[in-house]
Amino acid sequence: MKHFDILIIGNGILGTSIAFELTSRDKNLNLAIVGPQQKPGAATIAAGAMLGCFGEVTKTSFKTKHHIDKFNLCHGASTLWDPWLSSIEQCSNDTIPLSEGCFIIRNTQSGVIDDHNYIAIQEALEAYDCEYSICRTSDIPGYHPISTQRAYDSLFIPSEKSLNPNQLLSALNKTLVNANCEFVYHTVIDIKHTEAKTIVTLSNGEKISASNIVISAGSQSQPLIDALGLQKNIPNLFSGVGSAFVAQAENLAIKHIIRTPNRSFACGLHVLPQANNQLYVGATNNVSLFPEHHPRLSLINFVTQCFVEQINQDLHNAKIIKLLTGNRPVSLDTFPLIGKTHKKGVYIASGTYRDGIHQSPSIAKYLADVIFDAGEKEGSLYKAFTPERKLIPTYKHKNEAIGDAVEAYMSGAYEHKLYMPRVGWDKFFEELIRERLNKIYDKLSSKYIISPDFLLMIDEGNEQQVIDILNKCIEEKEGV
Ligand SMILES: Cc1cc2nc3c(=O)[nH]c(=O)nc-3n(C[C@H](O)[C@H](O)[C@H](O)COP(=O)(O)OP(=O)(O)OC[C@H]3O[C@@H](n4cnc5c(N)ncnc54)[C@H](O)[C@@H]3O)c2cc1C
Repeated sequence: MKHFDILIIGNGILGTSIAFELTSRDKNLNLAIVGPQQKPGAATIAAGAMLGCFGEVTKTSFKTKHHIDKFNLCHGASTLWDPWLSSIEQCSNDTIPLSEGCFIIRNTQSGVIDDHNYIAIQEALEAYDCEYSICRTSDIPGYHPISTQRAYDSLFIPSEKSLNPNQLLSALNKTLVNANCEFVYHTVIDIKHTEAKTIVTLSNGEKISASNIVISAGSQSQPLIDALGLQKNIPNLFSGVGSAFVAQAENLAIKHIIRTPNRSFACGLHVLPQANNQLYVGATNNVSLFPEHHPRLSLINFVTQCFVEQINQDLHNAKIIKLLTGNRPVSLDTFPLIGKTHKKGVYIASGTYRDGIHQSPSIAKYLADVIFDAGEKEGSLYKAFTPERKLIPTYKHKNEAIGDAVEAYMSGAYEHKLYMPRVGWDKFFEELIRERLNKIYDKLSSKYIISPDFLLMIDEGNEQQVIDILNKCIEEKEGV
């Protein structure tokens, strides 16, 4: 049986970045990375990907100490990207192009959620003294929405960036080839842990062992956590299914990110320029019990329509060259799971939900510190997101969560073109939604108030079955 010092399970951005950091620190490390070559359902290859923290701010980003810690980690990650990319480029001999600058637009195609989150972004930019400018929407290169959907506000953040995650992954993989890392193109289907080593069984029946393992299999980390018997100590992982597409057109004028603030349950409409006159357009987000691998017609229809109406109507003839579906790893309390477990040599890096690519350099550095027992880990904010923990509260009262959920549902309805039959009826619709959500929250365990992000899962599945699963996940946690 082959044995490794470190076995990384999962070959998305986290597994690959951690492997890069570890092999950069110790050239003689005997390391392998396991994961299927095509990465079906991986979040990383379905992302745009935006690198930034301010564009992602919402009205809840600074709500509790944990929210603030999470924001500060993302803010800190922004400063790591330039040196991080230089060292990947140097080790791989690849060039990874970046698009610089992000326009945030505010239009009326969603509900009040856009206003709340747009204002929160501006307040965060001020509070963190980040350079930005208010701009005229007519000055945004390549922005030409239909007249009735034009934005009435926009700001430009020069420091927010984007890159193509496939180029990043490809360069990282080259660095790992150069570092003699072994690639195992299978999945891990079982894990047995002992004090001395961990033995994993691969999908082809082979077994390999390692002194240390890192579980970084994205939303598919849960079965591995279960196999280790750690599910009672760690917030469960779900899939935030996202759909997006890549389009191509002649002489694209879009030169920077153009995005809305985060919208109901999702990451907002965002358009990112890529090489070869291509554009990434995303993205939806439906939290689900299981990962999905294929885009849903209705969701692609929604994103394409939002794009041509709200961003650039001239691009209605652009060619769709790729449809993308990926599963964001989202934990039951929505916070990341990063660090060691009480089982010797078992580490976890997952639960990054919407910003795992942006955070990848800082997570890789932190985990390498933990594995090598280096000093930097001590003061790290990631300690608050250690995998074995109580569920981190996001709401104190269920009415607060219901209030946010009503706002998200109403805003989502407007995004899907709800037209009120009479002036003043929005209150009436809000009350109907509130009534339904009250019933759902009454059936959910009162030990922990789940985030509204999980409600679509209840809508789309067998209601009682999903509620039972969520309640089991909450109830089995020690001391929630
Ligand atoms: C549509 C969309 C848009 C997004 N936009 C952004 C963005 O703009 N900026 C940003 O920072 N983040 C964004 N995200 C979030 C980001 O993509 C994720 O947080 C991040 O990619 C998670 O990386 P990961 O390596 O943990 O998981 P993944 O990328 O899912 O990778 C996990 C890997 O593990 C493999 N695997 C699964 N099970 C096993 C097993 N049993 N054994 C071995 N291997 C296994 C899978 O094949 C996969 O390759 C977006 C996500 C989506 C879906």
